[in-house]
Amino acid sequence: MAQNSIHIVIIGGGGTAIATMYDLCLRGFKVTLIERGELTSGTTGRHHGQLHCGARYAMGDRNIARECMHESSILRKIAPQSIEYNMGMFISLNDEDMQYNNQFIEACHEADIPAKQIPISLALEYEKEVNPKIKSAVLVPDGTIDPWRLAISFAAGAMKTNNATIRIYSEVIAINTKSNYIDSIIVKDYISNKEDRIKADYYINATGAWAGKIASMANIKLDVTPSPGTMLAVKGRISNMVISRLHKAGDGDIVVPQRKLSIIGSTQWISDNPDINLVPKEDITFLKESASKMFPNFNKLEFHTAWAASRPLFGSYKNDKDVRELSRDFAAIDHSKKDNINNMISIVGGKATTLRAMAEIVSNLICEKFNINEKCKTDSIILPNYKLFYKGGYHGRK
Ligand SMILES: Cc1cc2nc3c(=O)[nH]c(=O)nc-3n(C[C@H](O)[C@H](O)[C@H](O)COP(=O)(O)OP(=O)(O)OC[C@H]3O[C@@H](n4cnc5c(N)ncnc54)[C@H](O)[C@@H]3O)c2cc1C
Repeated sequence: MAQNSIHIVIIGGGGTAIATMYDLCLRGFKVTLIERGELTSGTTGRHHGQLHCGARYAMGDRNIARECMHESSILRKIAPQSIEYNMGMFISLNDEDMQYNNQFIEACHEADIPAKQIPISLALEYEKEVNPKIKSAVLVPDGTIDPWRLAISFAAGAMKTNNATIRIYSEVIAINTKSNYIDSIIVKDYISNKEDRIKADYYINATGAWAGKIASMANIKLDVTPSPGTMLAVKGRISNMVISRLHKAGDGDIVVPQRKLSIIGSTQWISDNPDINLVPKEDITFLKESASKMFPNFNKLEFHTAWAASRPLFGSYKNDKDVRELSRDFAAIDHSKKDNINNMISIVGGKATTLRAMAEIVSNLICEKFNINEKCKTDSIILPNYKLFYKGGYHGRK
């Protein structure tokens, strides 16, 4: 069977789904992507915007730390217009943070992350607004991502192949299964207000924090924990680099300079419903206080906004406290193995930084299913500018 006669439906329109569409289109498959809102209207369009080199996870989550280092280097190469490679600095503010200093650097090195201690005087020269009482500073290759541009560049790349169809404002409302496979899905189109039945050879569930809901439509139990968090932005850039607290990954310990803003994040709790992401009032106070520990003048900058979005954590939780312990790693779940549904894969977990790698593992699995020997090319082709998506008339509103 040639790839161009194989139709794959991808449910979701965040970074993971879009990067998967791009990878499969490059390998010659016909792909339809179905997103209930705009592209990136889920967590992708609302995250912190840190290009993770993995240092944050080096102490406790070694796999994803290594993966972030690898992927951030690839993204810097293939998506230069969406990445600001401004580096990151971890700072210790007290003796407790200081205790982590050496272990942190060692853990980074073990995950192949080039972390480098620098003199405090140099740190304060690089970052004039950072708390002058810092006790240590470590440089790492973090950066800033423009989440929307990055995802849309992948979409432009997919459309350029002529193998992709994107349907926005189209929600999957039911999945029809027959014995051990999915026969079709029912999609509600919010533009025409009509329902369609769509058939494909294979279905990919790339709906992030909603992945458990989609799986349940096919009577599959998938352990995905929606875990919302709040971020708060002030106007103006208080730092050049991404500044993080040098301690065990926690709440309110990263400031990312993003476009003309500085964003402090985040908090974390668990929820059954990724659609309900109201910002708890106490998060605003907490984030402002946390930011001012790192930057004494943070709260002098004009408040811009605060918002929340849901992480798509893979695994199940016991309570709000232990959710920080859940891994940020990702996995492609082949539902033929455990759930006896032979034509569906769910891709779950991960970070925005790892979207390309997530797409690669799913696309490899699809090739394996159809016995197609077509290698991944997304790690070496420079992505088109995101503007091509609009200039090319690909955005579905011609
Ligand atoms: C507070 C916070 C801060 C973060 N900061 C960072 C960071 O700095 N750096 C980083 O690398 N990562 C960060 N992340 C993680 C990152 O945002 C996510 O891992 C990533 O955006 C998930 O992308 P996705 O495509 O898998 O999911 P999403 O972007 O959520 O996409 C899923 C899509 O599925 C769609 N959908 C759902 N149900 C249906 C349906 N029935 N039919 C059709 N479509 C449907 C949704 O509308 C949505 O657009 C952060 C996450 C949070 C919550």
